[in-house]
Amino acid sequence: DSVDSTDIAIIGAGPAGAAAAAWLARRGWRVSVIERNHFPRFSIGESLLPQCMVHLDSCGLLDAARAGHFQPKNGAAFTYRGQDSAFDFRDKFSDGPGTTWQVERADFDQRLIAGAQAFGAQAEFGMQVTDFSGDADGQRLTLVDEQGDSRTLSARFVLDASGYGRVLARLNSLARQPSLESRCALFTHVEDRIADPRYDREKILIGLHPQDPNVWFWLIPFANGRASLGVVGERSRLERGGADDGERLWHFVRQEPRFAELLHDARSVRDVDRIEGYSASVETLHGPGYALLGNAGEFLDPVFSSGVTIALDSAMRAVPLVERQLQGENVDWQQDFEQPIRRGSATFRAFVEAWYDGRLPAIIFHHRQSARIRTMISAVLAGYAWDERNPYVSASERRLSRLAEVCPPLTSLSVEA
Ligand code: FAD
Repeated sequence: DSVDSTDIAIIGAGPAGAAAAAWLARRGWRVSVIERNHFPRFSIGESLLPQCMVHLDSCGLLDAARAGHFQPKNGAAFTYRGQDSAFDFRDKFSDGPGTTWQVERADFDQRLIAGAQAFGAQAEFGMQVTDFSGDADGQRLTLVDEQGDSRTLSARFVLDASGYGRVLARLNSLARQPSLESRCALFTHVEDRIADPRYDREKILIGLHPQDPNVWFWLIPFANGRASLGVVGERSRLERGGADDGERLWHFVRQEPRFAELLHDARSVRDVDRIEGYSASVETLHGPGYALLGNAGEFLDPVFSSGVTIALDSAMRAVPLVERQLQGENVDWQQDFEQPIRRGSATFRAFVEAWYDGRLPAIIFHHRQSARIRTMISAVLAGYAWDERNPYVSASERRLSRLAEVCPPLTSLSVEA
């Protein structure tokens, strides 16, 4: 049983792992990324937020991503019973970029990890992390390859960026019950063949089901004429839509007038997939000699496309702390890592809860909304969930409730002919 050693071992080569690897490798640290799959590999999570661009720049991967010539994105459009409301991220309260991309993750993630490798990070694919032990002085990971052969990797620090694999949460029993209800998503990629000149490919389109606003849709166009299409709702509700997931997805899509019209000529280019029970959380995001990044720690809900942003944010918060710790400094992981991450995710959580209980849709579709307030909401939707100068960040819950009280409820919107 051979033992290799490295400074930092990173579990998973998704955006969180690649960003952390790039930053640390550029600073001269020995970095080993262990990835169970072979890249390029499919992943859901295709609509980015402008806040991501700041993090991609900080870790040195912005040019590598830019070379993908991805579909530009400048906002989010919403549709409900023939009514439309769009937020342009360039018109936002917070400072920072106002545009980003919509990406096929197979290509995007491949470019990021290749960028990290170009900075000197080692990456091994087809290699799974199956066990973990350690303390503040050093960590040991058990790696198992596709033949079933195992070896040990010792590291001074471990970053868990294993996404839905949730490696350390499982091995260290850190999981805690998520506060959000369990929902289900059915999705595919289509050749969209959208010819409507009013359709804006630079925005994600979110639709609410006309009879049941708890069921919602996404349409995320890519640069190559394809788009990601999905529906989200309670599993039992979605399963009443047909005999299999393919039938169910299209059954619901045909019920939403704007989606039905836009996609009347669309063709699926991959099987309909399902992911459910994706909300997850942990008791703590750090321990002696390790920290949890991105989805390996917490995931809320797909509605605001915040997953990759939170993943990159956590990676960029962790890396300078890892460096300081390896240089012998005392690091307060609770104050400098966990607390800011929890604050940002509390902002998104307030928005997610307001989305599902109808307050946020009422706000979004209220057409006489103050322009100033719309810029504040736009900033959060653009991913600037840590800008405490924004009242919809510093007091999200209270602000959303108060604003919703003066907006007509969603059900009062009429169905247009
Ligand atoms: P991942 O990208 O999941 O990467 C983790 C990697 O770790 C994987 O490559 C995996 O193979 C590897 N791994 C796992 N276990 C092991 C192991 N034991 N050993 C070695 N390697 C391992 N986010 C957005 O930003 N925009 C969206 O539009 C969006 N839409 C979504 C829609 C749905 C329905 C859902 C459920 C999520 C959506 N998300 C979205 C969230 C997004 O998918 C994730 O937040 C994001 O991919 C997290 O990145 P990550 O780097 O933490 O993990």
